[in-house]
Amino acid sequence: MTRRRPVPEEPTAPRGVLSIHAHPDDQEFTVGGTLAKWARAGSAIVTVCITSGSAGSNQYTPLGMTREALAPIREAEQRSACRVLGVSEIVFLRFEDGVLEPSIALRRELTRLIRRFGPDAVVCGDPTVRFYGSSYLNHPDHRVAADVALDAVFPSAETRLIFPELLDEGLEPHHVTAVFIHGSERPDTFIDISEVLSIKLAALKEHRSQMGEWDPTEMITDWAREQGAPRRLASAEAFRRMVLARA
Ligand SMILES: [Zn+2]
Repeated sequence: MTRRRPVPEEPTAPRGVLSIHAHPDDQEFTVGGTLAKWARAGSAIVTVCITSGSAGSNQYTPLGMTREALAPIREAEQRSACRVLGVSEIVFLRFEDGVLEPSIALRRELTRLIRRFGPDAVVCGDPTVRFYGSSYLNHPDHRVAADVALDAVFPSAETRLIFPELLDEGLEPHHVTAVFIHGSERPDTFIDISEVLSIKLAALKEHRSQMGEWDPTEMITDWAREQGAPRRLASAEAFRRMVLARA
């Protein structure tokens, strides 16, 4: 006999959220719907963009473009996208795009931000995913950003004597309650984004330098349907959620 397990309810919007990504537009592709929904429910959301996306993508980056010229364009686009989503603050760490390393320097920066903003929830990618399907190798910057974000959440942010120099800046340890990991192969938490799918699309379209004439509507709508399918939701973003015990 099989017993039917009850479908878990969607978690309520966290009070404070830190959304950590490698490049401008990563957030809008992956978790824009969830953030738009949470912002409208009253969450205070801070976006962290580790690089400024100065390498762009070959498809739409004009041949004469330089890294120096592209970075401010992409930062402006990210600010516009955050405005559309309802994200209240954005931090650019300005690490170099395309060559991100899982360094202690990066971990210290992310730890500093977690302690400074004290979020209940951190949103990031899944560092363990190397392959998506049979045609997309996960970008190394995405893996590094996710890996270091998790290391900053635990143990660095909550352990007093890791990065003691942060104590000198007045940044006390902070325990993050939950981590929402997007792009996971084992999602267990599904955020219904039906009501905010149009906002997700509008935010994504702010990244004009990376889109050219391409309209992402069909692809994003398909992704949302696929991610919602396990819960019979028309549109969702799926996460692996870790609810962290206090050490
Ligand atoms: Zn990216």
